[in-house]
Parts: sequence; structure tokens; C-alpha cells
Amino acid sequence: MAEPSEDLTPFEAVTFFFHEVADQLGLDDATRQVLAGTYRELRVQLPLRRDDGTVTAVSGYRVQHNGARGPYKGGVRYHPHADLDEVRALASLMTWKTALVDIPFGGAKGGIQVDPTALSRSELEQLTRRYMAQVSYVVGVNRDIMAPDVNTNAQTMAWMMDAYGQRHGHTPAIVTGKPVPLGGSLGREAATGRGAIMVCDEAARDAGRAPGDMTMAVQGFGNVGSWAARVAAAQGYRVVATSDVRGGIIAPGGLHVDALGAHVREAGTVVGFPGADPLTNEELLELDVDVLVPAALGGVIGKHNADRVRAPIVVEAANAPVTPVADRILRDRGIVVLPDILANAGGVTVSYFEWTQNIQQFSWTEERVNSELAGHLVTAYRQVRDRAAADGTDLRHAAFAIAVDRVATAAHLRGYV
Ligand code: NAD
Repeated sequence: MAEPSEDLTPFEAVTFFFHEVADQLGLDDATRQVLAGTYRELRVQLPLRRDDGTVTAVSGYRVQHNGARGPYKGGVRYHPHADLDEVRALASLMTWKTALVDIPFGGAKGGIQVDPTALSRSELEQLTRRYMAQVSYVVGVNRDIMAPDVNTNAQTMAWMMDAYGQRHGHTPAIVTGKPVPLGGSLGREAATGRGAIMVCDEAARDAGRAPGDMTMAVQGFGNVGSWAARVAAAQGYRVVATSDVRGGIIAPGGLHVDALGAHVREAGTVVGFPGADPLTNEELLELDVDVLVPAALGGVIGKHNADRVRAPIVVEAANAPVTPVADRILRDRGIVVLPDILANAGGVTVSYFEWTQNIQQFSWTEERVNSELAGHLVTAYRQVRDRAAADGTDLRHAAFAIAVDRVATAAHLRGYV
């Protein structure tokens, strides 16, 4: 097996895991070539008229990685680092994620390379509508469906749905993660964080542990991190630390997560939460806790700090938070990593339920959503655990092996290769 390097780009890092598993599965060269590459990559120019009258040309991307198992599916990220390589990496992860949890989608991702915190609400709306208009040629209910990701939310999806509908007629299933009054699904907003904790519960049970005697630190308090923290606290985990882009906080006795949510709505950051002490994001990753949940950005656990991670369980709620080099270090140290394509698959799973409800024009109860979510994730976790035991590998390689097998089978049946 090739040695990983710390200089890999995000797409090279995901592809590194893919090739390790392709070697293990003995995948033929043609299949390997088709599955490693992306199907379609679109860059669009988005001229943005700022409120002061000046115009800036912003870049937007949509990458469709593999559609052998169904329509392309994936979120849209607004971030200064959202370039073509990063969007490609995230699209590839979506292909493996949808296959692993066995939902009938392929993988895609979108991005706008911009700092959304520097834009007004009307500038954001304008940019979002223009992005949807420009990529509308390659999306569709049975072609490619958008969802929220970093710095995008239900409001962003509402603007996208409206922009698409102006050209094509009312089409709620064109985006998921919409506001509930516009056809969004109950339980979607919480789904990624909730799913991460469902998978964590399973791993804890296998390790003979119970949530009531476990501590947890969560990096990131956005959609995924805040819901992971809230659901974990409700399950009995003691959530002792969390953070956001402005810094972190720690309270060894446990954070009151609902009160923290109210503080963040007021202050715009976790920093300054009464009763907690300050902490840096770097310190948070090295805390002596039972579970570490990176739920912000990619690449935060690398060669520089993997030796200092002390949590015996790492739940990858974010996409690609652990680099390939760090992945080996953590594995050699006996740390259990619940891989992103399993741990954060709750969001796309409930996106699938939302798409299904829109097509059927029928709404499910939140209880039904959560119980179907648990069905998909617990099944996927057990398949991954059993495959890892059978193959003598770790959970990430087992998860990729299951996913790559499924996508390769679909590609062969369609006659792609
Ligand atoms: P978000 O924008 O709602 O929240 C991101 C959080 O990370 C915020 O608290 C932000 O302050 C923090 N953050 C940003 N930069 C940081 C930095 N440099 N250091 C520390 N914290 C930082 O985004 P989200 O939707 O919660 O997504 C978080 C992660 O989860 C991403 O990796 C995303 O790809 C992944 N993910 C999201 C979904 C979803 O349904 N939203 C689904 C699957 C995976």
C-alpha cells in the first residue's frame, strides 16, 4: 500500500482512501478509473452587485461525481476555500456515503467561493438565485438535487427552490433541507447531528460503554455540531467543550447545551458563554474526553496533532476532518474513528426522505423520520463493523469497501464498464 502524504489536496486525500480499498478489492483498472474520477464539473461566473453599487465576479461550482446508483445529490458550501478541488472531494464522499447507507442517489457537491459573513442578506439572496439559475442546466429532481452545507441553511434552499421554480414551475424536490412550511421534512435540520450520535451510541455499546458515563467534546457549533451536542446531552453524554470559528469553551461539569444555543442566537458565538472557560480549537481536539466530535471543517486532525488526540472514539461529523496520515496514526494508536461517510450520513438520509415526501406530496411525522433514520444508520454501522472484522481492517476502510462494491456493481449493471 502507498504511503500517504500530508501534502495531498482534499480530492487526493479522498481518492487515496478509494485506491487503498480498490487495491484490497482487486478492482479492475477500467472500473477504478471510472469510479475515481468525476462525471461532470461545472464552474460558473456569478457577477455580484454589492449594496454599494460595485460588481465582483464570484466563482461557483457544481461537481457531479458518480450517478450509477441514482440522481446526483449533495450540499452547497459558501466558503473562501470552496474551490474546484475541495468541491470534487466532497462530491466523491457523497457517492460513497449514499451507497453506504443504501439510498438511491449518486454523489455531487456545490460551492461558492466567497466569505458569506462579508455579504448582506440581500447580496446573499442575489448570489444564491444567480447560482441556481447558472447551474439549473445540470440539476433536476431526477438529475441532481441540492442541500445545505457549511454557511448555507434552510433559507438558502428556499431561495434556490424559488429561483428554480421561476423557470421550471413549482419544484420542491429540487432541494432538500428546505424550511418545513415550503415542503421541508420534519427532522431534517437535526438529522446530521442526530445521526452522528446514533452511530456513536452503537460504537459505545460495542465498547461496553453507556452514554451516561461518557464525556464528549464537539468542535463546531453550527448546524451539525449544535444538534450533535444537543442530542448527545439529551442521551446522557456530558458535553464538556465546544467551539466555533471564534474560539472554544469548556465546562468540566458539562455545558447546558440548550442555554448555549440561546447564547449563540444572541451573541453569534459560543465564546463568552457564562459559566464556561475559554479554550482554543487546537486544545479542544486534544482534550481527555471519551468522544471527540469534529463537526466544523476538513483536515483539522493531521500529522501535527494526531499523536496528541486523547479521545478513544472520534466521530467524524464533519467531512474529511482526519487526513490520511493522521488516520494511520490514530489507527495505530487504537483510536476508533467513525468515518464521515457513515457518521454524517444522517443528513443525506433524511434529505432522501424529504425528496420522497415531496414526490409523494405527503408528509411524515418526525417520529417516523427519526425511526427510519435509525434503521438506515444502525444497519450501515453494523454492516461496517462486521465487514471490518471479516476483512481485518478499520471502520473507514470497511465503509469504503461496502460503498465501492455497491457503486461498482451498479456501474457494471448499467454497462458503464
Ligand atoms: P455550519 O456552517 O452550520 O457550521 C460550521 C461550524 O464550524 C460553525 O460553528 C463555524 O463557526 C465553525 N467553524 C468554521 N470554521 C472554523 C474553524 N476554522 N475552526 C473552528 N470552527 C470553525 O456548517 P454545518 O452544516 O454544520 O457543517 C459542518 C460540517 O459538517 C462540514 O464539514 C460539512 O461538510 C459537514 N456536513 C454537513 C451536513 C449538513 O447536513 N449540514 C451533512 C453532512 C456533513
